Amino acid sequence: MSGADAASGDKVPVFEPWIHGTDPAGAPTGPPIRVQRISESSYVLRQSKRVDYEAPFMFLLLGTQRAFLLDSGATADDTVFPLRAEVDAVINLWLEDHPNDNYELVVGHSHQHHDHIAGDGQFVGRPHTTVIGADLAAVRSFYGFAGSLAEVAILELGGRSLEVIRIPGHDETSIALFDPQTGWLLTGDTVYPGRLYVQDPEAFVASINRLSTFAKERPVSAVMGCHIEMTQTPGVDYPQGTNWQPDEPSLVMTVAQLHTLNTVAGIALEPGRHVFDDVIIVSSGIAQPG
Ligand SMILES: [Zn+2]
Repeated sequence: MSGADAASGDKVPVFEPWIHGTDPAGAPTGPPIRVQRISESSYVLRQSKRVDYEAPFMFLLLGTQRAFLLDSGATADDTVFPLRAEVDAVINLWLEDHPNDNYELVVGHSHQHHDHIAGDGQFVGRPHTTVIGADLAAVRSFYGFAGSLAEVAILELGGRSLEVIRIPGHDETSIALFDPQTGWLLTGDTVYPGRLYVQDPEAFVASINRLSTFAKERPVSAVMGCHIEMTQTPGVDYPQGTNWQPDEPSLVMTVAQLHTLNTVAGIALEPGRHVFDDVIIVSSGIAQPG
């Protein structure tokens, strides 16, 4: 664990502007993956919208024994989406200061949808690497979940113990991760500044309530999901498929926003598109999950 991290009081990540994909005016488009180093042991990555409009975020957290990569992006082909190379570069940098011939990598997923698992194949055959299966049986088996939303699984990275909870609703395999080192609560496609596609409304309501309660019991510094789809105008989103978002809000949401979402999440029981300032709840059968 980094001493600086342990001592730091403010863990809210401050990001440089993210790549927004392809500027219709012809501005430089940037690399296919933007890697932002928040500390020597905490990185946030985003796939460029010029590679895939979903532009998912990924998180790379390093402990003394192993690193954990949350999600592998929307593209399998490493020639256009070199995720493995970027992850290896981060880990190699870490190993320069923390030599460990047996340092491990675990690749897991916020949930099983394509735009979060497509890069898994790049890690097959990588030494000291575990790629967690994406389906429900594999997720339950790896974390030891029996079924209750109250369960908390521990993913030990060495000096850094991630807490994992189930949050079904967007998808049956959805999980959230809390990282005590940074205070980050990573919420996948269940809570983020965008369209919250609800496949199972009752599970979604229960999971938002679970997240809200969980956040009260933990020192959460930032709530971060895996996409940005809103504009900075309250209640206005970019259309699905947009590959240039110069007016997007921060990825970071607050615990207060999560608690507010919990007070309105029940609307998901009614099919439709329910617009709020910072999120849009799209419930059952209205749109395909993204
Ligand atoms: Zn997604």
